[in-house]
This record gives sequence, structure tokens and C-alpha cells, in this order.
Amino acid sequence: MNNNELWQSVLAQIQFHISRANFATWFQNTEIISKENETIVISVPNAFSKEWLSNKYNKLILKTLHDIDDKIKDLSFVIKPQSQKTPISKVLPEKDTIETEQLKFDEFKTNKETNLNPRYTFDNFVVGSFNELAHAAALAVSDNSGFAYNPLFIYGGVGLGKTHLIQAIGNKIADGPKKKKVKYLSSEKFVSGIVSAIRTNTMEAFKASLSPIDVLILDDIQFIAGKNKSQEEFFHVFNSLYEKNKQIILSSDRPPNAIPELEDRLRSRFEGGMIADVSLPDYETRFVILKIKLQEKNMELPEDVLEYIAVNVKKNIRELEGALNRLLIYYKINNNIPNLETSKKLLRGFIFSPFDVANYKKIIETVSKFYNLEEKNLFDPTRRKEIVKPRQIAMFLLRRELKYSFPAIARKFGGKDHTTAIYAYKKILQESEENNKLTEELGLIKQRIYSG
Ligand code: ADP
Ligand code: MG
Repeated sequence: MNNNELWQSVLAQIQFHISRANFATWFQNTEIISKENETIVISVPNAFSKEWLSNKYNKLILKTLHDIDDKIKDLSFVIKPQSQKTPISKVLPEKDTIETEQLKFDEFKTNKETNLNPRYTFDNFVVGSFNELAHAAALAVSDNSGFAYNPLFIYGGVGLGKTHLIQAIGNKIADGPKKKKVKYLSSEKFVSGIVSAIRTNTMEAFKASLSPIDVLILDDIQFIAGKNKSQEEFFHVFNSLYEKNKQIILSSDRPPNAIPELEDRLRSRFEGGMIADVSLPDYETRFVILKIKLQEKNMELPEDVLEYIAVNVKKNIRELEGALNRLLIYYKINNNIPNLETSKKLLRGFIFSPFDVANYKKIIETVSKFYNLEEKNLFDPTRRKEIVKPRQIAMFLLRRELKYSFPAIARKFGGKDHTTAIYAYKKILQESEENNKLTEELGLIKQRIYSG
């Protein structure tokens, strides 16, 4: 394998471990320029990238390299200005379908005007009971934008197809006969736009730039929670688009009523249209998804291998694709179809992930994050409602998921009398039977505990 092939293989793995935006930002225009003994030298376009890659992604890159070639032990980065570089797509030999199909990194190819990635379409979106409501609503909105459901609010855990679905709507509308103006933004980007407009006193210009838009798509809107100034400005943007029957499409990792620190008036706007969730696909659907991804890449793998992936990789669809990619890279590099035994070896990292099991730390971390608390707050001896409820949920989950004894739970929470733990368990159990919101929250928290 030459340096190019090696780097393409690394990128093919890394894209499944970090967000799309980060992948496109930090890995575009990077390459391996040399391999000196056990050290790989990677060139990057500027000092900023160098700093980010070496501080934030060093471990991930090294691990991925090491998984492919265990002789590699170290990394270094050098700056090479962009003009001297070969574009990523040019390094691929044209006759090689796998490489061109699989590794052209569509993430780098978003439309400058809409920010949409053409790879996300309805045609390659698999529908099953886990996402059919969201899919139907998305189709309705793309056929009748501004008038079907406004806003459309899609929520669900990581890697379950939210971005794919909302971008598919955008692509369908943008390519439609009406030439509507579509804009897709991550909420992070949207918030930073607002913040800089406030700072430079250009809020009016910022709003004016949004007003010609017919369809505004904001991904991961939960990010706006707690950012008061941005929420206020967004409220006005929302209203002015809404009044003109412009379509607003939002995604989030949870439903509006479970987003902490979201202003009530925004919450009620979010709830004013259609809310639909995407959840985990079942085994049969996972199998179909694998088949479709293979078809897209013009590749085949043995049925028993596909079954093995579908049975074992259950975390989310992104992981499913990652696992498939791992095998295809092997296939490509060795020119040899991986059989079941080889596949099991290659997929160890996907299947025996430490994230798949719940443990004490994971429960505490997930519950506090879900409720926007610091972990230590869960242990505060306070009766404040915002803390008591998450604490009781943590106790409940320790009992339910890990079978901790009540005295053990009590000890973890500062030696409280074990009746407190029993009380918490019973209370949450009873309330979750009566209260849909709590049941939903528990479901989302559990999904996160088990899906890393
Ligand atoms: P999310 O935004 O919910 O984190 P993404 O939309 O980024 O998830 O999906 C992760 C990956 O899984 C993407 O590569 C996407 O194309 C794929 N994917 C998700 N849902 C589906 C689906 N229903 N059919 C086909 N591919 C899917
Ligand atoms: Mg997403």
C-alpha cells in the first residue's frame, strides 16, 4: 500500500468517528508525505490545521493508522501550503471503482450556495418502522414547502439519519422546478453568525441575508439552548420567515420539551408544526441498509458476513457504514474478499466497543449531560428540583441497568440512608408509567448510555 492509499484508508475510517463538519474542516487538503521508520509525516495546509490536528485528533489518527499497520507508532505534522497539493480526488486511479466510489470523500463537496451535500437524497434513504413518520413528513414538506408542516422538527440519537433526511429535503426542493432558495446550516455555524453580527453591530445585515431564503434548515438546534442572545435573535428570524410561509426545518438530539434552557416561546414555536423521531433500525433493516450501501459502491460481500455485521453492529447507522467500510478497505488493499473469520477480526473494534456496556461512570456522565448539569451537581445535597430529578433518575438507572443494591447506591450518593435510594427508584418507576415525557426522557438517556 502506498502513502496515498494508506491515507485514503485512514480518512475512510475517521469520517465515521467525527462530525461531518469537523471532518471536512480539518482533513481536507491533508496527505501523508512520508513514512520514516515508525513515524508517519502528514502535511496540512496551515498552522491552524496543524495545531488542531495535533491537539485534537492525534490519538484518533494514530490509532486508525496503527489498526491498519501495527508498525506505525508515531505521527508528525508539517505545513505545506495548498497550492502545492494534489487534490484528493486526483490521487485516485480512475479505473479503480472501489477507490473512486468509496473514497472520494463527498463530505468535501458541499454546494457553496446551499451548503447541501448532494449525496444525501431520498433515493438512498432506507425507510422502516424506525423512521417512517419522519420520512413521510419529510416527503410532504419537500412536495409542499412552507405549507405542509412548519416547522418540521426531526429528532433522534447520533448517527440515525437526521442530517441525511433534512438534507434530502433540501436537495429535493433545491433541484425542483420552482428554483427555491435553500440554506442548510449547522446550528453551531448559525449561532456563530449571530454572535459575530452582534459583535460587529451588523445584525440587520445578517437578517437581511436570510430574508431571501425559502427554506432554512438548521441541524442540531439543541445547540442553541442556553445561548440567550442567539435564542432571542433566532426567535425573530423564525417569525419573519414563518410569516412569509417560508419553510423551517430543524433537527435535534431530543424533542423540544426535553431541551433544557430553551426559551419557552421558542419551544412553543418548535412544537407548532410537526415533530417526528428517528430511532434505531431493527436487524432486517440493518441488513437492507448494508445491501444498499454495497450496491451504491458497486461491491459485494458474502451473505454470512453481512449477517454478522447486521446482528452485531447495532449502535447506529453511521457505525454500520463504518464497519462495512472497514471490510471494503481490507478487500481493496488485499484484493481478497474477507470471509467471516477475517471479518470478525477486522470488526473487533466495532463490536467489542467499551461504549456498548453501561457502567457507573457512563450513567452518571450521561444523566448529568442530558440535564445540562456538571457531574458533581448530581451529588449536591440540595432539594432543588432541577437536581433532585436527575439524581433520582441516576439512582433508578444504577438499580435498573446495573443491578446495584440500594445500600450501594446510597453510598455512592454520599452515604444517604438507603431508603432514599429505594424511594428514588420507586418514584421514577411509578412516574414513568404515568408520565409520557419522563418515559421518553428515560428512553433517550438509555439510548445514549448504550450508544456511546
Ligand atoms: P445523524 O445526523 O442523525 O447523526 P446522519 O444523517 O449523519 O445521522 O447519518 C449517519 C450515516 O448513516 C450517514 O452516512 C447516512 O447516510 C447514513 N444513514 C442514516 N440513516 C440512513 C437511512 N435511513 N438509509 C440510508 N443511510 C442512512
Ligand atoms: Mg447530524
